[in-house]
Amino acid sequence: MAKGRKRTCPHCKRSFTAVGLADRPSFPFCCDQCRLLDLGRWLNNEYAVVEDLSRGQELKARIPEASDVSDPDVKAALDELDT
Ligand SMILES: [Zn+2]
Repeated sequence: MAKGRKRTCPHCKRSFTAVGLADRPSFPFCCDQCRLLDLGRWLNNEYAVVEDLSRGQELKARIPEASDVSDPDVKAALDELDT
């Protein structure tokens, strides 16, 4: 039997198969790019709840570990975090 579960990325709505969390560090997103862009939207107040700043900083601290920051959209999201 296949172990993967069908998931839908909350950011780009693409469906992907998640085998395990270790296999998907960007879970529940399909990739790091979606995770970062979604995070950027959070920090831009596009979502309603942004009161827990310590959580945002914790997430920000993890961003340098993200594999691909060569995408201009991701860079823009990171720039937003620095302001
Ligand atoms: Zn996605």
